[in-house]
Amino acid sequence: MNRFTGKVAVVTGAAQGIGAATARQLAAEGAAVAVLDRNAPDKTAEQITAASGTALGYVCDVTDRASVESVFDRLAADLGQPHILINNAGITRDDMFFRLSEDDWNAVLAVNLTGAYHCAQVAQKFMVAQRYGKIVSLSSRSALGNRGQANYAAAKAGIQGLTATLAIELGPYNINVNAVAPGYIATAMTAATADRVGLTAEEHQRSVAERTPLGRVGQPEEVAAVIAFLASDEASYVSGQTLYVNGGAR
Ligand code: NDP
Repeated sequence: MNRFTGKVAVVTGAAQGIGAATARQLAAEGAAVAVLDRNAPDKTAEQITAASGTALGYVCDVTDRASVESVFDRLAADLGQPHILINNAGITRDDMFFRLSEDDWNAVLAVNLTGAYHCAQVAQKFMVAQRYGKIVSLSSRSALGNRGQANYAAAKAGIQGLTATLAIELGPYNINVNAVAPGYIATAMTAATADRVGLTAEEHQRSVAERTPLGRVGQPEEVAAVIAFLASDEASYVSGQTLYVNGGAR
């Protein structure tokens, strides 16, 4: 498939994990991809170029509005005006609510929710002018509630509300806005969670797999495939939705 020929896509937090897999998938189908991360975005961009795709890396902290604005101006000059934004950058700072610090609350909200607000607000200027746009943001199954993740659950539920509202406000400009809510995906983020509870990544994945109907955890490419669908014209009449990608877990 070549669903993204002629399109410019921006993926935040794309140095590794789900963001890197999404950047690779969009580029493999013809998009010119701006790989944004606060650290080491060039690694993913180099992988894409080595596979004959088009990509450039940009250091960008999504919590910093000035950084987001200047990177969007640069990438629009380098690659062309953006058609697709994937709000993927995310962090966790897990703790039980009774001792959850204000720093950990603010840090998680700043990256996962305010970061998406910054990027979407800057990106929509280009999209409205072009009367074309796709915004896909990463929510999480944790939005439904997860022990030790009050900050993360609040941010990821916020993404669902932001998505539903942007779909209403930006729909008249031919901009589709959707979210993906993964369950447990094997990445550095979940490996860090395993470490915090004193398990190896493999042990942690096995215990999650046991309570997942499909009997395994997910891989970044399986989320990237769903993001790519929502970012494509195949999903042209889908907007304001959150699609759970969680192996059937309730
Ligand atoms: P990773 O930790 O593997 O990758 C996240 C990337 O985002 C990292 O490269 C990280 O950089 C970067 N990042 C963090 N803060 C910023 C920032 N302020 N500005 C720019 N980039 C930043 O995570 P995953 O691939 O697992 O997760 C990707 C998204 O999917 C996140 O939004 C996450 O919440 C969501 N998700 C993941 C699930 C999972 O099971 N893995 C489940 C549900 C949702 P650095 O390494 O420097 O922190």
